[in-house]
Amino acid sequence: MALLEIEGVSKAFGSLKAVDNVSFEVQAGEIFGIAGPNGSGKSTLFNIITGIPFGPDRGRVRLDGQEIQGRSGNAIARLGLSRTFQRETSFDGLTVFENALIGATYGGAVKAGAEAELRAAEALDFIGIGRADFGRLAGELSVFDRKCLMLATAIAMRPKILLLDEPASSLTKPEVETSIGLIRKIAARGITIVLIEHVLTFLMSLSQHLMVLNNGQILARGVPQEVIADPRVVEAYLGSRRPDL
Ligand code: ADP
Ligand code: MG
Repeated sequence: MALLEIEGVSKAFGSLKAVDNVSFEVQAGEIFGIAGPNGSGKSTLFNIITGIPFGPDRGRVRLDGQEIQGRSGNAIARLGLSRTFQRETSFDGLTVFENALIGATYGGAVKAGAEAELRAAEALDFIGIGRADFGRLAGELSVFDRKCLMLATAIAMRPKILLLDEPASSLTKPEVETSIGLIRKIAARGITIVLIEHVLTFLMSLSQHLMVLNNGQILARGVPQEVIADPRVVEAYLGSRRPDL
């Protein structure tokens, strides 16, 4: 049985079909890449799966065989699903450590206290955020450090599966390399990863499976090398405003 099963999910905004009858499965232990031009429905797909901020209009989402569509983000998190957002999100007025602590207790699997503090510190260490930075305000961090904090916060709850929405956007080349290393390290910890990125080359070296969305629908999927050679994928990317294949 797949860890995550998506069956015929759709989400419309008025007459716009942002996600249109999408089905796929993610196996435990893999890195599953999702690509697609800007506006193709990638982030909306994550919103639907995670329940943050909304579930699907139609379709089913199963985590470990359990139907989760329509449940609250908090309830879904408790079952072992964590996510990051395309924009760096943190509680800017709280410290780095307090942010990670919120991650550790999100979903309610552990309560605030010694165990949560241990998990928060371990997650920050794992991502490479030094103890000297634990007391800094999140709002004072650089874009890259905020992305790292978002990753640490997401893994502090010790999820089975982690959904990452464009973790490398607005980073420099060396920072992108560091991010790739961190994602590999998280996967090596046994956390299944679903990774959105609109730059296909970023996904090539990381993903075992790749799916490309266009206009809310699946354009192609399979082994990454074959997917990027698909003429429909090439055309969708060349036809978009940002032809960064
Ligand atoms: P991607 O992440 O692939 O760039 P999105 O999922 O963010 O694409 O958006 C898909 C489409 O849905 C876009 O046309 C976008 O403008 C629209 N959209 C996304 N979220 C909303 C919303 N909350 N309200 C209205 N339209 C939305
Ligand atoms: Mg997006």
